[in-house]
Amino acid sequence: MDYLEGLNPEQKAAVLQIKGPVMIIAGAGSGKTRVITFRVAHLIRSGVDSFNILVLTFTNKAAREMRERINHICGPEAKNIWMGTFHSVFAKLLRVEANRIGYPSNFTIYDTDDSKSVLRAILKEMQLDDKLYSVNFVLNRISAAKNNLVGWQEYQNNEQIQADDFSSGRGMLGTIYQTYVQRCYRAGAMDFDDLLFKTNELLKNHADILNKYQQKFKYLMVDEYQDTNFSQYLIVKRLAAVNENICVVGDDAQSIYAFRGANIQNILNFEKDYPDLKIFKLEQNYRSTQNIVNVANSVIANNKEQLKKNVFSQKESGDKIKVMRAFSDNEEGKLVADAIMYQRTSNGLKWHDFAILYRTNAQSRSMEEALRKNGIPYKIYGGLSFYQRKEIKDLIAYFRLTFNPNDEEALKRVINYPKRGIGDTTVDRIIVAADKNNITPFEVILEANRYVEKAPASLNAFAAMIQSFQVITKNQSAYEAALHIAQHSGLLKDLYEDKSVEGLNRYENIQELLNGIKEFSEREDIEEKGLDIFMQDVALLTNDDKDKDKDADTVSLMTIHSSKGLEFPQVHIVGLEENLFPSQMSLNSRSDLEEERRLFYVAITRAEYKLTISYATSRFKFGTLISCEPSRFLDEIDAKYLELDFTAKPAASSSFDDERSAWTRKNDTYTKPKAATAPPVKTTSILAKAHVPSPGFKPSDTSNLQVGMQVEHERFGFGKVLTLEGNKPDIKATIFFKEIGQKQLLLKFAKLSIV
Ligand code: ATP
Ligand code: MG
Repeated sequence: MDYLEGLNPEQKAAVLQIKGPVMIIAGAGSGKTRVITFRVAHLIRSGVDSFNILVLTFTNKAAREMRERINHICGPEAKNIWMGTFHSVFAKLLRVEANRIGYPSNFTIYDTDDSKSVLRAILKEMQLDDKLYSVNFVLNRISAAKNNLVGWQEYQNNEQIQADDFSSGRGMLGTIYQTYVQRCYRAGAMDFDDLLFKTNELLKNHADILNKYQQKFKYLMVDEYQDTNFSQYLIVKRLAAVNENICVVGDDAQSIYAFRGANIQNILNFEKDYPDLKIFKLEQNYRSTQNIVNVANSVIANNKEQLKKNVFSQKESGDKIKVMRAFSDNEEGKLVADAIMYQRTSNGLKWHDFAILYRTNAQSRSMEEALRKNGIPYKIYGGLSFYQRKEIKDLIAYFRLTFNPNDEEALKRVINYPKRGIGDTTVDRIIVAADKNNITPFEVILEANRYVEKAPASLNAFAAMIQSFQVITKNQSAYEAALHIAQHSGLLKDLYEDKSVEGLNRYENIQELLNGIKEFSEREDIEEKGLDIFMQDVALLTNDDKDKDKDADTVSLMTIHSSKGLEFPQVHIVGLEENLFPSQMSLNSRSDLEEERRLFYVAITRAEYKLTISYATSRFKFGTLISCEPSRFLDEIDAKYLELDFTAKPAASSSFDDERSAWTRKNDTYTKPKAATAPPVKTTSILAKAHVPSPGFKPSDTSNLQVGMQVEHERFGFGKVLTLEGNKPDIKATIFFKEIGQKQLLLKFAKLSIV
């Protein structure tokens, strides 16, 4: 068993305990994922059939990496393991069993955009106030209900839910939920939450199927168990009920998905579900230096709700954690890019040794800009997926419609794209006729002359085209069929004719998709290579799944949420500012704030030996310059672990309005801020807290501001007006502030008081 040598005694004990329920509750970087990987390898080496193993991971990427490692130890047996995210694994299971719950096996998976579009149509038909019933709000409510296994009937019959909805003036939610479910069903579509909801339904109502999968999955393992929701919890519980060979690993301190219904109680109650449970604790962090682990511990200690753990590292103490301050978000990007360039050159590192983590996707903009300017290659993970781009979705909608002509969202997307003279009114008529006759819109189109008044001839042509695609997909390879559809739908031509840069880009993206399909249809390791197989779970794919150059040497950019489970030698966490991180939305309750703090904990613990944290003192939000306070989380770190780098000076022309508007107007005309002319900043506290406005501070009407006047700025303090330029309402004032030097401000946004 030499393959078990790379484990410490506790890890080894957990790996060897292959029978019965096991829970590993352990700190970040302590080898939880490693234990699962080795456990699977050990099961196979001990003679367990690889077809009997189910492993649920947090991302498909994690599953792929795990499979590679197992393959390394056990050889090609690794291929047979069912391994992936909850959504991808149970989509696969549902494809086999869908007919038992009245769905076709070629059901479409609706992504969030599709779900929203269905809801938008329903809300419009019902003529509901779109403020009270905003699409996002309604979708969240339905999603939450599904993840708590509350179906629409139960929703409508639950007195408490009804009372709450009515008292908030949203008494129609139950009806919307019902209609939404019926529309999805009619379209042969499931949304993301359905993949779990329907799996539960299947396992609950069909004893033979439950039995089949209980026999199949004799060994279950779940990584990141702290982030499972009720629906996921119940699937696992049902599948494990007979053999009870279930092993879950998790860390309560890294639970960061409560906002999506994840329930930390799933960990805390595990012992109640399985009285024979064996619990293993891992405390040694193998990933990070002592300083990094200590900082993480000092942050998480501020949370009241937590299982106390003593996470330690035996690595060197390592560098202190650097805190950098910038005066704008663009400047923050520049500082980060410079730091990465410097580290790479002086330590002989690769670009892929670095990651930049942020709280919100929007923050990637200033980082990308700085990386591009410095010629640093980077890749954004988990951003807008390749498969979410409009042109890709358009072509895929044709594929979807070919395999499932009832797919209403796909139909609406392409019925008149490229333009073929089928206007919105006709589409509305089709939908109305479908509702009235209780058939699907595609069935209406097939007999357009019978159902639709003034049906344009193009409807028949459209139906005939889709039917011809169906024939092609039966007789041709995935690639040939896809190419045929791209050409004969007119989509390729439409994109080809658009000669703008964006148009060219879109055309290339379609080519890239076709190339991907070609590769797929030439694969030798799989039997079924039809376009239908390629298509099946496209809605579940992320950017990372498409990536051809997985090994490309690039800096990784991602939100902290998507960095879970990963590790990088050097990590930058950016945007440590109040109202950004912690986010504004989390400030209302202790539990939300604690979730933000866990998120910070996750971010810190991604770093192996160098961690840099940065914040900007001003940032554009929704087109307005706002000044920012350093995050409270920075104050929570024991100062002895920190090294402050406040050398960046406010650049004279980095008066942010100019900088940003230049950027937004045209990316490439952005000009570098000129050299700093302002005196260095005097900091009063280590984190340069903002100027505290005088008692009674109130922004004045500045329309009569004159050169030479004394002013007080809410955040920059006292200063004198040097120049005024431009015309109302875009007058810019250059002001010399005593504390921080010269700044240029757009008066309409500046919080100034004339003194
Ligand atoms: P997270 O909480 O971030 O998901 P984790 O607990 O899953 O972390 P792993 O990712 O499994 O931790 O391990 C962290 C790092 O430590 C990995 O690089 C892993 O290879 C290494 N590691 C874990 N255990 C050992 C060990 N016994 N000897 C050497 N390296 C180890
Ligand atoms: Mg892990």
